[in-house]
Amino acid sequence: MIFVDENCVICGGYNDDTLLRLNDDDFFECPLCHAQYGFASIPLVALLPFRGKGSFRPGESRVPLDLQGFMLARSQPEQVVLADKNGIFTSRDEIQAYLAVVKD
Ligand SMILES: [Zn+2]
Repeated sequence: MIFVDENCVICGGYNDDTLLRLNDDDFFECPLCHAQYGFASIPLVALLPFRGKGSFRPGESRVPLDLQGFMLARSQPEQVVLADKNGIFTSRDEIQAYLAVVKD
């Protein structure tokens, strides 16, 4: 399983460059790779099938502590803001394969 805290799991590591921030579409987005994470279906986090535009809300808008530590999953095909409970990622290879077809 891949768990999401406040850093982008795709970029990996823990540094300020990859701290997820709330964007104008109400998704958390990585400032570096622009992957978008949806928290509308906690306890699963949805990895959206399209990237953000880097349009962030002003101020500190990090992932709140009570939303950290949940498992990352694919988006539901028909409702991309929600995570697919049958699509929980089990490896980084799976994430890379999923993102390989992501539209920019
Ligand atoms: Zn990233």
